[in-house]
Amino acid sequence: MQDKYGRTIEYLRISLTDLCNLRCVYCMPEEGVCKLPHDRILSLEEVAEIAGAAVELGVRKIRLTGGEPLVRRGIVELVRALRALPGLDELVLTTNGILLPALAQPLRDAGLDRVNISLDTLDAEKYRRLTRGGALEKALDGIRAAQAAGFAPIKLNAVLLGGVNDDEIPALCALTRDRPIEMRFIELMPIGDALYFGPEACIPVDTVLQRVPELQPLARAHGSVARRYALPGAVGSVGLISPVSCSFCSECNRIRLTADGCMKPCLHSAEEFPLRGLHGDALRSAIIAAVNAKPEAHVEFTATQRSESARNMNQIGG
Ligand code: SAM
Ligand code: SF4
Repeated sequence: MQDKYGRTIEYLRISLTDLCNLRCVYCMPEEGVCKLPHDRILSLEEVAEIAGAAVELGVRKIRLTGGEPLVRRGIVELVRALRALPGLDELVLTTNGILLPALAQPLRDAGLDRVNISLDTLDAEKYRRLTRGGALEKALDGIRAAQAAGFAPIKLNAVLLGGVNDDEIPALCALTRDRPIEMRFIELMPIGDALYFGPEACIPVDTVLQRVPELQPLARAHGSVARRYALPGAVGSVGLISPVSCSFCSECNRIRLTADGCMKPCLHSAEEFPLRGLHGDALRSAIIAAVNAKPEAHVEFTATQRSESARNMNQIGG
């Protein structure tokens, strides 16, 4: 699918639930989210139907996200159904990793291609504070389970938080020395609860290059928004994702489906297209309408200008 600005839209991110087994301070309110009534959430059959229509229209990559996608019952069957869609090249998932010890192998066997796992810190106490009660060891067990199940490369996502985890940049980069992982640093986006730590937490991702000057640039991977680097002789790589300091709107190839069935043309705009109850041509037309509504660029973020999204990050999936 081509949008009005000539961008090819071939990447669909699907949020399977607003719920999560963690409460990261920059993502979710402390009290969690009001559980949407069961009948407001798309059934997994509806998700598969919408995904199927999007793939017919040219989507080549699907990411399952949330909230925490692994708390959604039936995820393994959904992965199997999506993997069977003719024309889908890549099926991937973003998770906090906590439930991977039980699910990594079944997901791999069902045809999931890759996992991204969120890991902001290697300090157990900091992890507990950032996630409001999570256990670092469980996330690390999840990473080990993903490796044992054969997922490669595994991408680890850290939201870079000035004054909170920037002191760990060298240690996080060092994880790539002898492991086939891509350690990715992501700028904090001013959306929902992101400003929990105050504006000083929003630091540019280029801070990583200042703290670890030995990083050498690598070629950009096709379709990726990450600038890639590697430590000399390292097995893995380091990725820098800069949605704030250097927006990648001109290369945007994505649309997003929320757990309650709305297509979001842009992460940072309030516009949404409800798809619930649509089938066949009507469903395909609504997806095309959402693609045509993609703005050329989102608002420019400043200290006071926040995302115009009407939803928190846990309701969109990043
Ligand atoms: N629960 C899963 C997880 O944490 O990986 C998937 C959903 S989570 C919303 C997806 C990604 O968005 C995570 O890597 C998380 O760190 C990131 N994220 C959440 N809020 C963010 C914010 N305000 N700015 C940048 N990234 C954010
Ligand atoms: Fe949950 Fe992921 Fe948001 Fe953390 S970032 S609260 S793990 S949805």
